[in-house]
Amino acid sequence: MLVVMRHDATAREIDAVVATIREMGYDARPIPGKQRTAIGLIGNDGKVNADRIEALGGVLEIIHVSQPYKQVSREWKEEATVVVLDNGTRIGAGDVAVMAGPCSVESEAQIIGSAHRLREAGATILRGGAFKPRTSPYSFQGMGEDGLKLLARAREETGMAIVTEAIDSESLDLVAQYADIVQIGARNMQNFSLLRRAGRAGKPVLLKRGMAATIKDLLLSAEYLLAEGNGNVILCERGVRGFDTHTRNLLDLTAIPVVKSLSHLPIIADPSHGTGIRAKVIPMARAAVAAGADGLMIEVHPDPERALSDGAQSLYPGQFEELMEQIAVIANAIGRQLVPPLVPVAAGSA
Ligand code: PEP
Ligand code: MN
Repeated sequence: MLVVMRHDATAREIDAVVATIREMGYDARPIPGKQRTAIGLIGNDGKVNADRIEALGGVLEIIHVSQPYKQVSREWKEEATVVVLDNGTRIGAGDVAVMAGPCSVESEAQIIGSAHRLREAGATILRGGAFKPRTSPYSFQGMGEDGLKLLARAREETGMAIVTEAIDSESLDLVAQYADIVQIGARNMQNFSLLRRAGRAGKPVLLKRGMAATIKDLLLSAEYLLAEGNGNVILCERGVRGFDTHTRNLLDLTAIPVVKSLSHLPIIADPSHGTGIRAKVIPMARAAVAAGADGLMIEVHPDPERALSDGAQSLYPGQFEELMEQIAVIANAIGRQLVPPLVPVAAGSA
């Protein structure tokens, strides 16, 4: 439930509403807006009797949020959420943000070399897993903290922001120390204790859609992050299990306009995991931008044949450069543009 205050409501009237909500046994979250303050009531599982609140001074109207995901919904917050990173990249403000890099951090030469080339092509966020959730326990599991240190070096050298995955609570604490964005992967989308912890980690979170999750499931998982006080959440469509064997997953691009209408949170697309096949990544990346995605996550590897994970879906760097040129044109066609490229970090300034 949302209590919308009159534009001339006094601080004392706002405090009285907050106190009444707390007395009723719920939690109150004041949301200051440009025109007026609203006060969100959370902690209810069902409709709240608003009679007592309606009668208080300064109250303009009561809005009952009809969705089970409250703080994530457009009813709760009409204005789009913009996630702002330290390097100036804004996600959700209209420009298309590009996160690119290898599936896994594998070596210093691989990640630092990739970062320079990707930044030159216009990506402002570097991806790379240091903790890998692998289907087989015998597959490469990631470099761990050494990988995070290499990502931090790549950031120093290029100015790119870092997005990297946390797979459990131990890795979350480490990842949150190094990353600009903490990624929660598809396999952990409904790991609710991990979500709560990520909500308290103090860093923006990239939440990927689970492979068998509905859009409602995704939004309810995001609600866990907002319920812990973290509003800097970016959603990611990365494909769901389909019945067709021609692709690894079924990239559900309808999720983009659907999420946009239901939620104020930004949503990006990951056509690399969404298709699993290099030749299908570029067409689906173009389509995602055309569908209104706030950004893309693209796997790129300097030598995909030798990649330790997801080589078959990783673009060659030259293909990524081509893709960046193409999506700039598509973004323009719908009145948008790519997030402006980073200016090179001066040699020796790191
Ligand atoms: C990844 O980004 O490398 C990854 C493992 O993604 P997902 O969780 O979408 O499978
Ligand atoms: Mn991958």
